[in-house]
Amino acid sequence: MSIGIVGGGVIGLSIAFELLERGAQDITVYDPDPSRSAGLVAAGMLAPTAEAVFGEEALQALMLESVRRWPGFAGRVRARTGLPVGHRTEGTLLVALTVDDQAEIDRLIGYYRRAGADIEPLTGRQLREREPLLSPRVRGGAFAPGDHQADPRLLLRALRSLPLRFESTAIDDLSTVRDDVIIVANGVGAAGLTGLPIRPVKGQVLRLRGAEPLVRHVIRGVAGGRHVYLVPRADGELVVGATEEERGADTSVTAGGVLDLLRPAADLLPGATELVLAETLAGLRPGTPDNAPVLGPLPGTRALVAAGHYRHGVLLAPVTAAAIAGLALDGSTDIDIGAFAAGRFT
Ligand SMILES: Cc1cc2nc3c(=O)[nH]c(=O)nc-3n(C[C@H](O)[C@H](O)[C@H](O)COP(=O)(O)OP(=O)(O)OC[C@H]3O[C@@H](n4cnc5c(N)ncnc54)[C@H](O)[C@@H]3O)c2cc1C
Repeated sequence: MSIGIVGGGVIGLSIAFELLERGAQDITVYDPDPSRSAGLVAAGMLAPTAEAVFGEEALQALMLESVRRWPGFAGRVRARTGLPVGHRTEGTLLVALTVDDQAEIDRLIGYYRRAGADIEPLTGRQLREREPLLSPRVRGGAFAPGDHQADPRLLLRALRSLPLRFESTAIDDLSTVRDDVIIVANGVGAAGLTGLPIRPVKGQVLRLRGAEPLVRHVIRGVAGGRHVYLVPRADGELVVGATEEERGADTSVTAGGVLDLLRPAADLLPGATELVLAETLAGLRPGTPDNAPVLGPLPGTRALVAAGHYRHGVLLAPVTAAAIAGLALDGSTDIDIGAFAAGRFT
C-alpha cells in the first residue's frame, strides 16, 4: 500500500515516522519547500497547561495526552535515526515583574490547579535561587514541572533523515495524488487544498546566542503587561518569542516586533542583552476558529487530514502521528479525536 503525505513539516514527518514504526514502507512526502515549515521558527515548548485557555478542555486533554507520549516519541525517534530531538524536562518557570504582572501569573496558577496540573508558587527570591540571572526586580511566579521543551529544528533534522521518498512538488489538487492513502498535513497550505478554515497567524521570534546557557528552565514571563518566553538550548542559544499577529501570509520581521520581544526579555533576564542577536524570523501558525487541529477523514474525499495545529504543532506531534497512522493503516484509532473532526466547521 502506498501512502502520500502532503507537507513535510513537523506534522507530516511525524506521521511518516509513526507509519514507518508500524511497518509501512512505501511513503512519499510531497513538499516544494520544507524551509517554509513553521516548525523551523517554533520555540518547541511542550506546555499543555500554560497554553490552555478556558473553554478548550478537549484540546487540553489532547495536549496532556501528547505531552505524556513525548518522552517515548523522542526516544523512538532517536533510536530509529540516531539523532537527538532536544527533549528536556527541567520544567518551566512563570515569572512576573510588577504587581499587575503578578496578578496575571496568579490567575494562571489558579488555572493550573483547576486543570489538576502541578504548579508551585515561588517568591522572587526562590525564583532567583533556581535561576540566579533573573532580574532582582522579578517579584514572584511559579514552577510548572510538567511543561517541557523539545528543539523543533533537531526534530525536523532527525525526521528528514528517515527512509522516505521526498518529492519537491506542490500539491494543489488532491486528485493528482495517486497513492492509495492520502494524508493532508501541509499546515497553513491546507486551507487552499481542502477549503478548511485554516488561517495564518504570524509569529516573530528572535534567536540569541552566547557561549553557554543563561538559564536552564523555560521562562514564561510578563513584564509590564508584555508577554515573552525564553527557551534555552544546551548550546547557548536562547529562543525569544513570540508575537501573535493576524496579517495574512506576511512573514516580514518588524522593528516593533523585535522591540516587543526584547524589552520584556531584557527586563526579566538582563544578561540577554549581552548575547548576539543571531536570527530574527517570522513563521505562520496554522490557526483554526476554535484553536484546535483538524484530525481525521476529510469529508467528500478519500484523504485524511492533520492540520490546523496553531500554537501546538510540536507538542501535538506524537498524539497526531499515532492517531493518523492508526486511521491510515487500520482504519481506526483508540485516541479520542471526535472533537477534532473536519465536519465541525461545515
Ligand atoms: C513563532 C512560532 C512559535 C511557535 N512555538 C511553538 C511551540 O513553542 N510549541 C509548539 O508546540 N508549537 C509551536 N508553534 C506551532 C508549530 O510550529 C506549528 O503548529 C507546526 O509547525 C505545524 O506543523 P505542520 O506540519 O502542520 O505545518 P508546517 O510545520 O508549517 O509544515 C507545513 C509544510 O507543508 C508544506 N506545504 C505547504 N503547502 C503545500 C502544498 N500545497 N503541497 C505540498 N506541501 C506544502 C510547507 O512547505 C511546509 O514545509 C509555533 C509556531 C510559530 C510560528
